[in-house]
Amino acid sequence: MKSLVWFRSDLRVHDNPSLKEACINFDEVHAVYLYSPKQLKEHNEANVKTEFLINNLHSLSQDLEKLNIPLTILKSDGFKNDPQLIQEIITQRNIQKVFWNNQIGTDELDRDMLMKEILDKEKVDYESYFDQLVFNPGSLLSGQGTPYSVFTPFKKKWIENFDLELLDIDFEYKPKKLTEITSNIKSFDFNFSSKHFVDMTLWQAGEKEADIRLSFFLTKKISQYAQDRNDPIIDGTSRISPYLALGVISAKKCILEALKINNFELTSGKKGITKWIDEIIWREFYKNIMFSFPKVSKGQPFQEYSKAIKWRYDEFEYNAWKKGMTGFPIVDAAMRQLVAEGWMHNRLRMVVAMFFTKNMLHDWRLGEAYFMQNLIDGDFSSNNGGWQWSSSTGTDAAPYFRIFNPITQSTNFDKNGEFIKKYIPELRDLDKSVIHNPPKEHRKYCNYPEPILDLKQSRLRAIEAFKAAKS
Ligand SMILES: Cc1cc2nc3c(=O)[nH]c(=O)nc-3n(C[C@H](O)[C@H](O)[C@H](O)COP(=O)(O)OP(=O)(O)OC[C@H]3O[C@@H](n4cnc5c(N)ncnc54)[C@H](O)[C@@H]3O)c2cc1C
Repeated sequence: MKSLVWFRSDLRVHDNPSLKEACINFDEVHAVYLYSPKQLKEHNEANVKTEFLINNLHSLSQDLEKLNIPLTILKSDGFKNDPQLIQEIITQRNIQKVFWNNQIGTDELDRDMLMKEILDKEKVDYESYFDQLVFNPGSLLSGQGTPYSVFTPFKKKWIENFDLELLDIDFEYKPKKLTEITSNIKSFDFNFSSKHFVDMTLWQAGEKEADIRLSFFLTKKISQYAQDRNDPIIDGTSRISPYLALGVISAKKCILEALKINNFELTSGKKGITKWIDEIIWREFYKNIMFSFPKVSKGQPFQEYSKAIKWRYDEFEYNAWKKGMTGFPIVDAAMRQLVAEGWMHNRLRMVVAMFFTKNMLHDWRLGEAYFMQNLIDGDFSSNNGGWQWSSSTGTDAAPYFRIFNPITQSTNFDKNGEFIKKYIPELRDLDKSVIHNPPKEHRKYCNYPEPILDLKQSRLRAIEAFKAAKS
């Protein structure tokens, strides 16, 4: 009896419900991944994330090989082409049942509907699971039976319903029956060329690497997380997001390992641990939002009124923002970190997104797309949630008149300007008293640009634009 596991955003062996069920119920298991450069492009996936994806597929293939499960990579023309490719492999290999873990976006859900119709017609069994969250998306509802649109009550419900049994993820895999098929990954042409500037040794691929990163964070950093998480030079966060985005590690595993060092206490005990779990619940929240309010995955704002906002567009400002040349050192350092590492510190994501959508008054969708095109941890729901939060168009959004001042943010969170100096070498000789907003003559000396806009005026302009949209 043969089964097929269709890998998607779940590039791991452990805590992988579809792989586990296939292994329990079938003596021969095959695996497939459908690789589509066209689809990746349509979804704005970053070049660096694609490289990380390919590296992780290699690692997954090796892990599966130890279980005698061959991983076949097939080139797909996009989601619409996926079901046909799966159907072909089922016929060629005489597969009895297909297993997969669900994804949340509307394109992905539509593809799976089509797949199910075909499998029903062909009378081939299938089973799908939710693997990305602790609770299945859409299952936590308010007293009125509606999905949550505000984080705090969502989190409260999440905690009320939490049970350690939800994290019962241990499973010992045993090698399956040998197959005649071998993985084609070494000969598969990914047709990939690296166009980014990220040093990939920062992001070693594979489930083992994700485990090492998690355990390093839990032993060395989590106790200080509550204090350190907002200071970008400290690097006090886990940097586990790229692994979560591709499913190289599961959220359940992250929470379980954190609870193990907190006496299994979810809301009490060490502050750093409870705070870190809170952040993972934010991820769960945004995935629920995307699942329950599909309009947000179709380029629409959560808040209806915000459709009336008259966004500006200025090519010069847009390019200055992308290049890290706005003349606001903290914004520029953050944007240069994004290009250099494929990753940006959370506090700075909020700072640059708010600067983009409020001070520059540019449409959040442009910033959202640019982030996706450059982030190694690009995650549709968290990115969309973060951009809609920053632009006051989303759930829980920052009130429109609460606009971060980038200079104040810089003085508060990069007190000595060390982060700025790391990413803007032109400013490395400046004293902390001037580095957050260098005077004219310092800028000239350092060959650093003048600010592209006036903070006060642009703030008022944004407030007026939001007020007008509300009225
Ligand atoms: C404008 C904007 C865009 C963002 N885009 C993304 C994105 O594309 N992908 C992404 O994973 N996160 C995104 N975030 C959320 C957050 O910035 C990153 O998850 C975090 O910086 C990742 O670093 P870390 O793994 O060290 O986080 P840690 O502080 O160690 O947190 C652990 C995990 O919790 C989750 N998490 C933490 N903060 C948030 C948050 N605010 N929202 C949702 N989940 C969170 C992440 O999965 C993270 O890996 C965005 C935030 C903003 C404001």
